[in-house]
Amino acid sequence: MKAIWYEAEIFEIIDESPKVKRFWFRMPPEANFSFKAGQFVMLDLPIQAKYTNRSYSISSAPTGESTFELCIVLKEDGIGTPWIWENISVGSKIKTAGPLGKFILPEVIDKDICFICTGTGIAPLRSQLLEIFNKNIPHKDIYMIFGNRIISDVLYRKEMEELQAAHPEFHFIPVLSRETPETWKHPGYVHKYYLDIYGNKQKPVMFYICGWSNMVREARDKLKELGYTKDEIKFELYD
Ligand SMILES: Cc1cc2nc3c(=O)[nH]c(=O)nc-3n(C[C@H](O)[C@H](O)[C@H](O)COP(=O)(O)OP(=O)(O)OC[C@H]3O[C@@H](n4cnc5c(N)ncnc54)[C@H](O)[C@@H]3O)c2cc1C
Repeated sequence: MKAIWYEAEIFEIIDESPKVKRFWFRMPPEANFSFKAGQFVMLDLPIQAKYTNRSYSISSAPTGESTFELCIVLKEDGIGTPWIWENISVGSKIKTAGPLGKFILPEVIDKDICFICTGTGIAPLRSQLLEIFNKNIPHKDIYMIFGNRIISDVLYRKEMEELQAAHPEFHFIPVLSRETPETWKHPGYVHKYYLDIYGNKQKPVMFYICGWSNMVREARDKLKELGYTKDEIKFELYD
């Protein structure tokens, strides 16, 4: 399907860290914009490159408004994100198309949900998590297993901790690869943690996995080996 492009306006930007920014976009009224939690948009950037489109998952939950948030990490050796860092400020307009993608929640949530992500891979999973809580969608246990290197990399940490405190069935597991069992409760990589919980296949669960291909493919392969089916493993690859 051919993408229809609209000039979206950026109306707020937060610097999460030197390498990660959160951008709030407003689509124009003629776009009739609405999206499902987990979908992404495409930006068409005025860059000197063979491919000028870049995809970004929406990190906010649907509100019925024509606004949404993106959470983007700077790829220093890339073309698109350095351009965004240099050129985008509040009031900028960017050609935007979407929403796109089928990485969405099931109609009925009748199993546990295990979100697995690294870095900005949390974006669509945060949208889905907020959607479940905002709309009081009936659900079972939900795990958010979120891998990063160090504590300051953990995006949305405060929000996740507050959600965990408010919802006993929600379990936030921030995993840090640069820490040790002496310095952090969940050191190492994400794989150990979902295997500890769901490796024995005793509880029905849907996995939603998002991020860069190394982690996503490894998780998908490990789950397939355990006998989880395609229907139980949804994933979104960033590369
Ligand atoms: C569905 C989806 C959602 C994403 N969501 C996020 C997000 O929420 N946050 C985030 O930080 N990143 C996200 N990404 C990654 C993002 O799209 C970019 O890849 C990333 O920002 C690096 O862009 P860059 O232009 O700086 O790097 P570059 O290295 O210049 O470009 C990387 C990307 O550009 C495209 N591209 C470049 N050259 C080619 C080519 N020759 N052929 C085909 N494609 C090409 C590819 O998508 C490639 O992965 C997502 C990717 C996908 C596919």
